[in-house]
Amino acid sequence: MNGADAAASAPARLHAALSPLRWTLWKQRPTLILYCLLVETVALAVTAATAIGVPTRLRDLVFLAVLACLGVLQAELGRQVERVRRLVSDTPHINMTSVWTFAGVLLLPPALVGTLVAILYLHLATRSLYRIRRVPPFRTVLNATLVIVTCYATDFVLARTGITSMYAALGTGWAGVGAIVLAVVTYFVVAAVTILPALTLTNRSFAALFGGAGDNLLEVATLCLGILTALALATLPALALAIVPPLLILHRAVLVKQLEIAATTDEKTGLFNTTGWHTLATRELSRAQRLPQATFGVLMVDLDHFKRINDRHGHLGGDTVLKAVATTLRDAVRDYDSVGRFGGEEFVVLLPDIREIDVLTVAERIREAIAGLTVRITDGESAKLIDGLSASIGVATYPDAGAALDRLLQAADKALYSAKSSGRNKVVSIMDVA
Ligand code: GH3
Ligand code: MG
Ligand code: MG
Repeated sequence: MNGADAAASAPARLHAALSPLRWTLWKQRPTLILYCLLVETVALAVTAATAIGVPTRLRDLVFLAVLACLGVLQAELGRQVERVRRLVSDTPHINMTSVWTFAGVLLLPPALVGTLVAILYLHLATRSLYRIRRVPPFRTVLNATLVIVTCYATDFVLARTGITSMYAALGTGWAGVGAIVLAVVTYFVVAAVTILPALTLTNRSFAALFGGAGDNLLEVATLCLGILTALALATLPALALAIVPPLLILHRAVLVKQLEIAATTDEKTGLFNTTGWHTLATRELSRAQRLPQATFGVLMVDLDHFKRINDRHGHLGGDTVLKAVATTLRDAVRDYDSVGRFGGEEFVVLLPDIREIDVLTVAERIREAIAGLTVRITDGESAKLIDGLSASIGVATYPDAGAALDRLLQAADKALYSAKSSGRNKVVSIMDVA
């Protein structure tokens, strides 16, 4: 869909989605188109083959309906949380549908699991029709197809263990537990691997798409609830309703985590904002105060004549430069150093556990990295390269330059001022300022 479609009404969008020639899919890179068509063909072929080969019992149809209803219920009850979450985070829809799809794998024949995934994703897609920032239809279809492929692969592995379902597992003790754990591992791994070819889809970094330990833990928690759902349905079906409240709480916990990240992150650059940086620096200060020999460094980095960049290349060009500088700063320091943006074109770096002489080395490395930076900015169709950037850096170290955080920041700022007034593009330590 193009920009005009994005502003279109829901019926117009629906019409566009139903006109194959206008699909956004065709605008993607060829390998991605190929991948979409490939997984979709595999999913359809396996669905058709298993639909013919496996008899469907009434119980299966009832459980399909129950899982679909629970899935829709959970998505509807979680909409408020999802709305707030989307305001603070650009990570895709937090998908907890694997509770239901994984329970489906443990209870239903493959073709019905495929049907369940289709119902749940169709529901999500109709909801997204009325949103302004929507997921293009081909992505929803791809996501749903990947879930189906993951379910079929898990089903295949389960079949190899001889324990094909939750019913079969009930009477087999540890063997059943082992088979279900194997199913969880398979689901997790296949879901992660099949998304790989689609990764550059939205220009999100590998880490952002895969998420940190927290996201993976969420996926595992979701699969665990899937086990409990299947267990309840296979024994005391009405108890499956008990899964919904913990699932909603889990969803809310994700929101809290993302609110926390949003509150401490600078939106433009992804660095820490003032609040986030201060929190970390305060923690570092109290750690250093407890240890007799501890030192840490604070760098105040300010781009030189940044106003000219804005004047020459526009505010958006300036923003691109700020993002590139942020990346450069992060790359120039160690993992446990913290880089923040205090607004404008002013950055701060916290360097824990480091001697003063090494602080100066790091500052010099940062200055050189910024001086060597070439930033590509695009303005409509044309692209330009910006170089010749420079920064002035003020350095202060604990405890010599001050024993409190505001004193250290004042010292670094004073050193920065001295760097600016003595010609810019240089590193100055407060120890060298009279
Ligand atoms: P100096 O070498 O003395 O630091 O000169 P300078 O031009 O970098 O410093 P000054 O503080 O005068 O100007 C900073 C400029 O940064 C002014 C403002 O328009 C611009 N700026 C502040 N925040 C942003 C932002 O988020 N994006 C962009 N593109 N520009 C910003
Ligand atoms: Mg400046
Ligand atoms: Mg400034």
